[in-house]
Amino acid sequence: MIVDAHCHLTGSYAQGDAEGALARARSAGVGGFVAVGTDVEDSRAVLALAHRHPEVRASLGVHPHEAKTWDPASEAELTRLASDPAVLFVGETGLDFHYDLSPREVQEAAFRAQIRLAKALGKPLMIHTRSAPEDTLRVLREEEAGAVGGIIHCFSEDLVFAKGAVDLGFHLSFSGILTFKKADAIREAAAWAPEDRLLVETDAPFLAPAPHRGKPNEPAFVTLTAQVLADLRGIPLAQLADRTTRNLEALCGWAP
Ligand SMILES: [Zn+2]
Ligand SMILES: [Zn+2]
Repeated sequence: MIVDAHCHLTGSYAQGDAEGALARARSAGVGGFVAVGTDVEDSRAVLALAHRHPEVRASLGVHPHEAKTWDPASEAELTRLASDPAVLFVGETGLDFHYDLSPREVQEAAFRAQIRLAKALGKPLMIHTRSAPEDTLRVLREEEAGAVGGIIHCFSEDLVFAKGAVDLGFHLSFSGILTFKKADAIREAAAWAPEDRLLVETDAPFLAPAPHRGKPNEPAFVTLTAQVLADLRGIPLAQLADRTTRNLEALCGWAP
């Protein structure tokens, strides 16, 4: 049994129907899912999905792409939604300076506010970071986010960033990128990562692992990434699956 630590099953980021994707994943041995909200409306849909499925838990937040929607009303509603016991994480939140779909200072303000929310709720963070490694670590440090910790999801940086994040108390979650030919820097970080900070995810519907690269991703495919990670670390897949499941439980108190 393995857990997908980050997937999109609802809202505008998702593709296809959640129920079918969950059924195919269960048949592939995937027993738990952290479903992630990307704005307030999607967060409502994620929470409803978690309430229908005990093996689905929620991570609610406003994605850096959507940071331009952050305002006092969305903050109040997210605070209300994220207080639900089915919500394990606050996010995804962070900085994306690759696409810059929201102004950088707006991304940073929404990021800081969500770190404060996570700390107020005593829940760990789900962090999205792209082309902003130093700024991400700076904000996490300045806001003392290590008090709650969390997940650097879809790890796509290098060993230097991995060490910085682990020093701050964060877990590293590896996605299908790990299986791509040019991902040597990510594989280096994955081989180095402390055993008790490792997680695997799909980030479905994005970034399908080889041999499905370029097609829509779904939680069933997390086993392909997990196999590559297990091979990198020289351990059997079953051991990697068990370890990552226990790591998630240690981080947020939940196991499917
Ligand atoms: Zn993300
Ligand atoms: Zn995501």
